[in-house]
Amino acid sequence: MLNIDLHCHSTISDGLLTPTQLVARAAMRGVKTLALTDHDDVAGLDEAHHAAAAENITLINGVEISVSWRGRTIHIVGLGIDPEYPSLVQGLTTIRSGRAERAREMAAQLDKCGIHGSLEGAYKYVGERRLIGRLHFARFLVEYGHAKDIKSVFKKFLVKGKPGYTAHEWADLGDAIRWICGSGGTAVIAHPARYQLGKNVLDDFLHEFRQLGGTAIEVITASHTPEQALLFARHAQNMDFLASCGSDYHGSGESYFDLGQLPDLPVGCTPVWHDWAVPYE
Ligand code: AMP
Ligand code: MN
Ligand code: MN
Ligand code: MN
Repeated sequence: MLNIDLHCHSTISDGLLTPTQLVARAAMRGVKTLALTDHDDVAGLDEAHHAAAAENITLINGVEISVSWRGRTIHIVGLGIDPEYPSLVQGLTTIRSGRAERAREMAAQLDKCGIHGSLEGAYKYVGERRLIGRLHFARFLVEYGHAKDIKSVFKKFLVKGKPGYTAHEWADLGDAIRWICGSGGTAVIAHPARYQLGKNVLDDFLHEFRQLGGTAIEVITASHTPEQALLFARHAQNMDFLASCGSDYHGSGESYFDLGQLPDLPVGCTPVWHDWAVPYE
């Protein structure tokens, strides 16, 4: 079992644990190196660093940037970023600014199908109001019995073609990669199988990502089956990408993988941390 986990969320975005609680849970579960990767925000990193020092684990500065590419939403994780890098800070501020309006539109749609009070209901679950997102709506929908769990919400609601889905323009792919790499970080494609890109589109995406300066891809993530992990390990090797692994933990009962519970990277992958000066044994 690896004890490095490079993708998780705190209450700053849509996780259930504060940065301190998250780091403590990671440490308790044997994680030695953890990246906190909140959506479109780096505000949890200071607190996470304090907690990591107390728990004696290494905390990597991370972020998960929402990107629009050819009409799809893609997530790009930045690892080892400088959270004070001006264009990253400015870029994240701009992406976040659309979330309040989007939430109002999502609620208006749910209203139309007889589900009332979702905006206030979703806001009850946010840590930081500026980060209101689909998972907060999902928790409200489960609470009021519209779906049995979070996973079922994302089959019946909040996805393309279903009530509560609102198309949204996130960051440009090239901009997100430039903010990450310009700040000294590594750009990583998050949970690549989630986007269900066909072979040709996937090929285009991987090439464009690489051409724009992206260098890594998540091979091990909770959203991959073992077969998908092997498939993306092959893509990583073919494209000369480094391989990353992260639980994408949001909270117990909501995540498939807990912190510190990740399978090893498949043989032949070069870990994204291969040249980091951090302990990972
Ligand atoms: P947003 O950034 O507001 O579009 O919200 C995206 C978040 O919703 C993701 O980061 C996940 O936390 C959650 N999410 C999206 N799709 C699913 C799914 N199929 N199952 C569970 N959570 C999901
Ligand atoms: Mn999330
Ligand atoms: Mn994601
Ligand atoms: Mn995530």
